[in-house]
Amino acid sequence: MTVTAIKPDGSRELLGEDALQELREHLRGAVVAPEGVDTATEPRVAWNAMHPERPSISTRCTGTADVVDAVGFAREHGLLVGVRGGGHSVAGLSSVGEGMLIDLSLMRGVQVDPERRLAHVQGGALLGDVDRETQAFGLATPLGRVSETGVAGLTLGGGYGNLNAMYGLACDNLVEAQVVTADGRVVTASADQHPDLLWALRGGGGNFGVVTSFTFRLHPVGPTVAFVGTLYPLEEMARIERAWRDYALDAPREVTSFIVSMTFPAAPGMPEVIHDRPVAIVGAVHCGDVDEGMATLQPLRELGSPLFDMSQPMPYTAVQSAFDPFFPRQTLRAYWKSQYLDELPDEAIDALAARAADRPGPMSLVNTFHLGGAVHDVGPEDAAFAERSSPWMVSFDSMWGDASDDAAAIAWTRSAWQEMTRWGNGTPFLNFTGRSEEPLEAGVDSAFGRNLRRLAGIKAVYDPDNFFRLNNNVLPRP
Ligand SMILES: Cc1cc2nc3c(=O)[nH]c(=O)nc-3n(C[C@H](O)[C@H](O)[C@H](O)COP(=O)(O)OP(=O)(O)OC[C@H]3O[C@@H](n4cnc5c(N)ncnc54)[C@H](O)[C@@H]3O)c2cc1C
Repeated sequence: MTVTAIKPDGSRELLGEDALQELREHLRGAVVAPEGVDTATEPRVAWNAMHPERPSISTRCTGTADVVDAVGFAREHGLLVGVRGGGHSVAGLSSVGEGMLIDLSLMRGVQVDPERRLAHVQGGALLGDVDRETQAFGLATPLGRVSETGVAGLTLGGGYGNLNAMYGLACDNLVEAQVVTADGRVVTASADQHPDLLWALRGGGGNFGVVTSFTFRLHPVGPTVAFVGTLYPLEEMARIERAWRDYALDAPREVTSFIVSMTFPAAPGMPEVIHDRPVAIVGAVHCGDVDEGMATLQPLRELGSPLFDMSQPMPYTAVQSAFDPFFPRQTLRAYWKSQYLDELPDEAIDALAARAADRPGPMSLVNTFHLGGAVHDVGPEDAAFAERSSPWMVSFDSMWGDASDDAAAIAWTRSAWQEMTRWGNGTPFLNFTGRSEEPLEAGVDSAFGRNLRRLAGIKAVYDPDNFFRLNNNVLPRP
């Protein structure tokens, strides 16, 4: 059997049976060539249905040694390489058509050290894997809001979730990482070893190598937390969002909250009152004492006349997976665009409410997230993740089912984003961006700001040939 795979310059490399057999003999995990790839059984297909690209060769690694061999093979043959953690990149950055995929889906191990309050997490773990293991000890680290998302991409891109105000971003809690660099070395990044690399991994994306293990700081959380999920009629969104804004600005650090517009399907298990009904959901978590938390969050349940209220003390793991059913893999086509706002004036809220009423499909979301507390305790140059002062982030998450709607949905998202630049600073959150035709539109320069130069220097040290380029790419500059 021979396989043709693409190189970064677009030319092709013919891989004969000998080469593939040699790789198979080295790897403990499977080496899958195109005819062996079956979407139904593939462990982790990409989430965004706009990115069904198939690699020519996929290496399902079982550990760091497999990753070293996979990197070595790709280097030897000059192949274009993609790295897949959870596969949730909205921009499809872990999809590599006709190249070689380093698939980490079998590397989901999580080990908790309760004494030192640390979790060691393999590079292909999903958020739910970490929450499940850490909660066994009454501990948690800040991650995102959909449990099927990959720890790797989320952390390397920053990582917003329900514990931000109290404990910071996911990347702020990263204390050590094991990385396979472009030359196949295994490097530990920590405060003592390669601290420049640790700084870069804290928000700088997948630019610097394959992270095979993350070590996170843990905090006492749960097992039950106070949760608010109150659904108001979308027509009231402008008024509800004003009241939520005023609440959020004065809320204690235990509270992290957001507001999102969406339309629930008429599915069994969903209360009839919200079937196919556009709603504005006020969502919040208080991660301290549960009774005190429910009392503190109570005003969010009384911002208007709720259609339905899911608020209650809830197991932390249930909160963390509450939105999972609405985000299945390879089902929705998606294009997202976000930006930060230093203020959220009434006019901006009116514009958001108008856009929420005019979404390109029922599954499309208009989100406003409140940011602050521990996220802003970190200085803009203390970690690669530079945005440390804006209290608001808005995100237009367009999701639809039919390819014939691609152009209209993308145009809508761009126009809504453009309108927000009146109040926003134009800086995007790179984890919430769709793939763009123009590299500059992704916003890498703007997202990293003054940190870009330092990141480019670190990239030059660890990946001078830009071997890892399918990411929010930083070009190496010594
Ligand atoms: C439904 C949904 C919900 C989301 N919710 C949140 C949220 O609440 N908070 C938030 O901050 N973000 C959220 N995101 C965004 C998400 O964090 C990013 O899309 C992130 O990139 C996903 O990580 P992943 O490992 O699943 O992605 P992948 O598609 O596997 O990879 C994304 C990027 O990271 C690189 N990468 C992956 N694994 C590694 C590794 N081990 N080492 C080095 N590079 C690697 C890839 O090459 C690629 O460039 C959400 C996305 C979706 C689709």
